[in-house]
Amino acid sequence: MRNIGIIGAGQAGLQLAFGLLAKGYPVTVYSDRTPEQIFNARLAATTYLFGRAYQYEQELGLDFWPGPGEYARGGDLDICMAPGQRALNVQGRILNAGKALDLRAKYSRWLAEFERRGGTVVVRDVDVEALEALAPRHDLMLVTAGRNSFMSLFERDAGRSPHTQPQRNLMAMIVSGMKPLHETPYPALKFILAAGHGEYFSMPYFDRIRGPLHCLLLEAIPGQGLDRFRGLTTARDAMARMKDVMHDFSPWVEDRLKDAAIVDESSWLTGAFTPTVRRPVGRLPSGRAVMGLGDVVMLNDPIAGQGLNSASKQAHVVTQAILAHGDQPFTPDWMEQTFEYFWRTEGQYITGFTNMLLQPPPPHVMQYLGAASKVPALGDTFFDNFGEPQRFWPWIANPAETEARIQQATAA
Ligand SMILES: Cc1cc2nc3c(=O)[nH]c(=O)nc-3n(C[C@H](O)[C@H](O)[C@H](O)COP(=O)(O)OP(=O)(O)OC[C@H]3O[C@@H](n4cnc5c(N)ncnc54)[C@H](O)[C@@H]3O)c2cc1C
Repeated sequence: MRNIGIIGAGQAGLQLAFGLLAKGYPVTVYSDRTPEQIFNARLAATTYLFGRAYQYEQELGLDFWPGPGEYARGGDLDICMAPGQRALNVQGRILNAGKALDLRAKYSRWLAEFERRGGTVVVRDVDVEALEALAPRHDLMLVTAGRNSFMSLFERDAGRSPHTQPQRNLMAMIVSGMKPLHETPYPALKFILAAGHGEYFSMPYFDRIRGPLHCLLLEAIPGQGLDRFRGLTTARDAMARMKDVMHDFSPWVEDRLKDAAIVDESSWLTGAFTPTVRRPVGRLPSGRAVMGLGDVVMLNDPIAGQGLNSASKQAHVVTQAILAHGDQPFTPDWMEQTFEYFWRTEGQYITGFTNMLLQPPPPHVMQYLGAASKVPALGDTFFDNFGEPQRFWPWIANPAETEARIQQATAA
């Protein structure tokens, strides 16, 4: 059995670790934090996991939380061409729905479970020097350390990374006391798109301590009207600012937030990052190759809710590739080929869809959304495809094919 080392105990690292452990591989996970420290950490993301990625977890026996009935099973999008004025509303079901869990609860539970099932956990903050020493102990070393300094080991792929700076400034929070913002008969991801300013999102969410609540995410185009939360230092001020934004940009949901409060000081965040795709082979100073996975190699803005799903799908592909590789050496070529397979079949669409949403919708997409506000099948397709962005292609890139889809669904 090949001995596998994994840096990072997040979605990519732990899902891969469980998948290999289940097949009898000796796996060591290096985590910079204990399960308790992960549980008590500051919020790093508010994520929705769509159906296929959720199924991967179920297959590995890792679904320890209630649902998925309590989580979003559809989407509800308001498009506003001017602040405070709703021009369009699109609703649709997510046929293959998933879950929105507090990742602090998930990863802390998973890390403890991994050890319980016989995996090896080493708690240490690994740096490049340590990685040099650890890598030779394993037949394959994977780096899944998320958005951190290890990214510099992996070369930026300029051809796949159109952005050189953050496209949104982010503020996210877990709140209690909020009435759902969505207007659908099922729990839904509520999106509000304020043209020229940014977007905000809310959804039912499972808080690590309090269980079912809601989370909110604000995505502000830098320097525009939603971008008014720099310098905030307390949960109270962050909540007040979010309510101001709702008041100015979407007064029709303002009342539902009236009694909302952030659940604790560690359950909100602000930040920004540059969407970047990197080459999967990282070179250590010695020349030894390690393989990147998850945000390390495909960092997307959260606007389309793809990063966690992508990490899960990548982990699934790499698990299968390692199993299929038997006792052959894990060469840099193998790493490249494995990642290229993922990029060709899924990654390019995940990144393409995310980058598309970061831009103003082109006329044919606006036409699709306009039709989807009247034809439920088009709304269902739009929201269900978030879990499988490759299904948007090739038609979304081609106005004539998009038009044909609209005609077909409208006629039906
Ligand atoms: C506000 C926000 C909202 C989001 N919403 C969504 C969403 O709705 N859907 C979605 O799919 N994605 C979403 N994302 C993106 C998603 O959170 C990430 O893409 C995903 O968590 C990446 O998983 P990962 O396993 O690559 O990295 P991570 O989850 O970041 O895991 C990395 C792990 O490595 C550990 N680590 C780091 N450095 C070291 C070190 N030196 N040594 C040892 N261990 C180390 C960390 O402690 C961490 O546990 C969102 C992100 C943000 C910021």
